[in-house]
Amino acid sequence: MVPKKLCPGCNTEKPANIKYFIRSPRYEDNLKPLCIECTKRAESAKNRPRSKAYYAANKEEFKRKSNISKLFDPKQYFLNLARSRAKALSLPFNLTYETIPEIPDRCPVFGFTLELGVARGRLQPNSVTLDRIEPAKGYTQGNVQFLSWRANELKRNGTLEEFEQLVAFWRKQK
Ligand SMILES: [Zn+2]
Repeated sequence: MVPKKLCPGCNTEKPANIKYFIRSPRYEDNLKPLCIECTKRAESAKNRPRSKAYYAANKEEFKRKSNISKLFDPKQYFLNLARSRAKALSLPFNLTYETIPEIPDRCPVFGFTLELGVARGRLQPNSVTLDRIEPAKGYTQGNVQFLSWRANELKRNGTLEEFEQLVAFWRKQK
């Protein structure tokens, strides 16, 4: 008598051997619980393309997901960047999407048109950058502004007094 094994998938007793069940050392009888037919049926159901009705019902969700990479939100980008910079530099951070200033079209210092330099992967002199007005105060509400990268890199952590001295010194040499 070949011992039988009840498959919970089709609720049928089948001979407990590898003709009907898949071998698996994980089970006491070295056979998977589901019979081969039920396993195949389960596999094909998993791989079957989803029905049109399924896509129709979830249309908005699919659209949203496929648009995520297309929709670039600069404010969100700068918020994320500021958060990670603050963490890396151990600086205070309390910005939110709402408290990040609007991104200007032109550099407030030099007046030229600003660009989102991230598009080209490298900062350009006219790339938009988020500047800490007082660097030590970190990325906090009221302490950030958008400047061109050129203005930002010139300013760095210099103080007004230092810049006035620098300019006065420079003028004398001219
Ligand atoms: Zn079965």
